[in-house]
Amino acid sequence: MTTTTSVRARFPGDGRIDFDTVTLGPVADGEVRLRVDVCALCGSDKRLLRSGSPVVPGHEIGGTVVETGAGVDLPTGTRAIVYIPVFCGTCRRCAAGRTNQCLRLTQLIGWQRDGGFAEHVDVPARCLLPVPDDVPLTTAVLGLDTVGTAAHALRLWQRVQPDGVDRALVVGAGPLGLGVISVAGAFGVGAVDVADPHEGRLATAVALGARAAEDLDSENQYDLVIEVSGATAARETAQRVVAPGGAVVVLGESDQPYAMPATPRWRRTDCFTIRSFYFPTSEVEANWDLLRDSGAALRDRLTVPLALADLPDAFARFVAGDYLKPCIVSEDAR
Ligand SMILES: [Zn+2]
Ligand SMILES: [Zn+2]
Repeated sequence: MTTTTSVRARFPGDGRIDFDTVTLGPVADGEVRLRVDVCALCGSDKRLLRSGSPVVPGHEIGGTVVETGAGVDLPTGTRAIVYIPVFCGTCRRCAAGRTNQCLRLTQLIGWQRDGGFAEHVDVPARCLLPVPDDVPLTTAVLGLDTVGTAAHALRLWQRVQPDGVDRALVVGAGPLGLGVISVAGAFGVGAVDVADPHEGRLATAVALGARAAEDLDSENQYDLVIEVSGATAARETAQRVVAPGGAVVVLGESDQPYAMPATPRWRRTDCFTIRSFYFPTSEVEANWDLLRDSGAALRDRLTVPLALADLPDAFARFVAGDYLKPCIVSEDAR
């Protein structure tokens, strides 16, 4: 029997979360309807919580296909995670498999069209990434913003330092920083130091194999610095400790502009600054192996499963720093 109603969260702004119940219409051509089994909270959602959002937020989605629109040849029951950039599929970047570089990108799911803090979500079929049978959805969602983004950043970095480095510094041990720590070894990083002012996050990073950095003041220490905080102080740290010939990978996001220091030292520092965005769908297959290796440990240390009705509390504790990666998990998926 087709479900006709669905509960979804709305963010009106100023930190409020409301719920409404909608009647679901037919699925649009080329789209699929997912029952949302898992939707992880992301640090970037905190901005929407403050500003409000015209669409249903939530962009780290894992679910099960319950209905398909015309032109979609996917069996119901397919388990999948959702690729958030609604790429065109035909521009020269998409044709080359670089879907995260789509030249006609207009929408991100959970940002410009409805996302996953709901019982159901409709998404374009091309944004579905089917999940292998041996990977649980609660692990698979970490293949998006946590491991997918981390692995792509490291692949991009490998192009400038193909021989790898003995030791890197990760600045910021939120979920993405912890994702970087978990998979760095697979990309030629011998060992990882980590810096984070939050003791709990730092302890998690150490449990995942990193070493707490002791000196963040001396210049020219690291050949690779991955800045995953977005805080101005973290960006300044990254630029200070990177050695000439090294690379700063900029993954942190904030509302502040990214600044290049107007200092003699920075003018004389010959290095790479790398900005990456998400990951191309062409990398997903290889990322399942990363998740088979480190996904369960990451999930067990990061995520807290909660019900959709708990979303306001989940965000309160997420903002307070009590939860690293709360995940809304449906009854069926627990
Ligand atoms: Zn995110
Ligand atoms: Zn495109």
